[in-house]
Amino acid sequence: MWYDLFLFALLAALFAYIFFAVRITNLHKVYFVFHFFMMLWPLCQFATHVVQDPDIQFLCVSLSFVAFLMLASGWLLFTLFLTEDKQALNPRFVSLLFVPALIVSIGVIANPFRLFASPATDNYVDRAYGPLFWLTAAVLAGYFAASLAVLFRAGRSFTASPSLKKQIRIILWGICVLFVFVAADILLNVVLRERLPIIPGLTSLGIFSADLFFVFVITRYKVFDLVSIAHEDIMNTIPHGILVLDENDSVVETNRALRKFANVAVGELFNPDEFLASARSTGGSRQFLERYKSKGSDSFGIELSSEHDNGLYFILQSSPILDTDRAPIGRILTFQDVSQERRLVRELNRQNDLLQERNRSLDRTRLELSQANLRLKEMALTDSLTHCYNRHYLMQRLFREMPANLEQRVPFSFILFDIDFFKTINDRYGHVAGDEVLYRTAQIVKPCIRSTDILARYGGEEFIMYLPCTDRDTALQIAERVRSSVEANRVPLEQSPHPVNVTVSLGVLAVEHLGQDPRPLSLEEYVPFLFSEVDKPLYRAKRNGRNRVEFADLREVPSLRHGQSV
Ligand code: GH3
Ligand code: MG
Ligand code: MG
Repeated sequence: MWYDLFLFALLAALFAYIFFAVRITNLHKVYFVFHFFMMLWPLCQFATHVVQDPDIQFLCVSLSFVAFLMLASGWLLFTLFLTEDKQALNPRFVSLLFVPALIVSIGVIANPFRLFASPATDNYVDRAYGPLFWLTAAVLAGYFAASLAVLFRAGRSFTASPSLKKQIRIILWGICVLFVFVAADILLNVVLRERLPIIPGLTSLGIFSADLFFVFVITRYKVFDLVSIAHEDIMNTIPHGILVLDENDSVVETNRALRKFANVAVGELFNPDEFLASARSTGGSRQFLERYKSKGSDSFGIELSSEHDNGLYFILQSSPILDTDRAPIGRILTFQDVSQERRLVRELNRQNDLLQERNRSLDRTRLELSQANLRLKEMALTDSLTHCYNRHYLMQRLFREMPANLEQRVPFSFILFDIDFFKTINDRYGHVAGDEVLYRTAQIVKPCIRSTDILARYGGEEFIMYLPCTDRDTALQIAERVRSSVEANRVPLEQSPHPVNVTVSLGVLAVEHLGQDPRPLSLEEYVPFLFSEVDKPLYRAKRNGRNRVEFADLREVPSLRHGQSV
């Protein structure tokens, strides 16, 4: 009988060890309840031998059986927890699970008509069992059979990890050992009770041995370890897909998020060629596969998009798992969803393209506007009939340049010329022909002057030339060149069978700063003064027979009134 007490003490010690050694989780609580019932059996068996009162003895016996029934039903619950049987772990099923144990327990405690047990002599140390005992044994056997079925099913499942399979195998051994001891106890101490002496503590020893298997599983596989529970929690809550492979590319661990990216289960082989062929890459698949197969100790990645799931873009990263000697013993593949980022980049590029197109059209409009402005400016500065500058432009130039010319005493000249007998051309061939003669004459004059000289239409059939930095001799040379070119030119006219001969009379004025006129003039007075001065030699040229050049010098150049500038 001390045997049972000793085993109870051992179980209590184990209980204390587990209680203090690990932190409490839900799984712990189930285990502790389960362990508590384990301890009750040997304790009650011991108590039966110690107490003398048959009623208390029977209470101890029935309590030990109730504990065993609770143990068996608790065991089934524990196996369901361990194998994470989600279907079975709902509150309704869990409460139903205890119903047979409860009913039988009531029967055992009530012991109606001594159907469960009756004292063989005058106490219950030596007792005979009735049909209720066999019903209890059958219920217990049913619980153990159900536990075995749950464990077998989990062990054969493809989704169970290799570590879970090992745990199941050890627990199965534990159950078998318990079964053997309980069966031996029933055979030797119940069935063959009459023929053999009672062998005490067989079931207690079975319970203790089975518990040793449990404790081994718990400590070896860290079933109650918070870190491993947290690890699983983290694995299944992070948004990245994770695939852990051993050195033969066999899948060791996966997480929930992986399902979005790849369809592989623990125990299967991961084939990188097949996987990359089923996805679209932005380039670099060959290099990725080469590095993958070289099994180096570096990390590398590739961006892929799913062929099937349109719009899923992800980065596949391969990182080696290294042992203490830094030799690769497996790898972790992570799958990071970047669809959102890609969509944002695409939208940004689209907006950018749109903005660039708007910018281009704005540039085009600006160019068109500046060209139109240029044309407008040209139109404002040129004479539409002769395509020479107009008088307005010449005035602007003179207002701008004359103050500096006068101040720095730079010589400059004007040539004013007028087509001879132009009225006759108009009268004879009409105004359209007269316009044609005006245009042609201007075109003949243009090549005779330098690029720095300005030819402007002065009015009617009169033209004026402004020759900057030009003294009288050069101006006279240019005037003569103009005169002879116009004289040599024949103007073809539709209205005339023969080309028409045109001549011009020219007046030249050179401003050479030889003296100073004491009367100062304002800029507004200065230009008309010069124009009236150049008109004089032109008048002389007309009077002296036309088709000739006459000149005038400004011997006394009037000074510009101070503060006059444009
Ligand atoms: P002169 O040798 O003295 O200069 O004789 P002229 O006939 O040329 O006389 P004048 O200079 O006085 O005559 C100018 C004429 O030119 C008067 C006008 O009818 C004509 N005229 C002025 N502007 C234009 C024009 O734009 N087109 C045409 N066809 N004729 C014009
Ligand atoms: Mg005239
Ligand atoms: Mg004239």
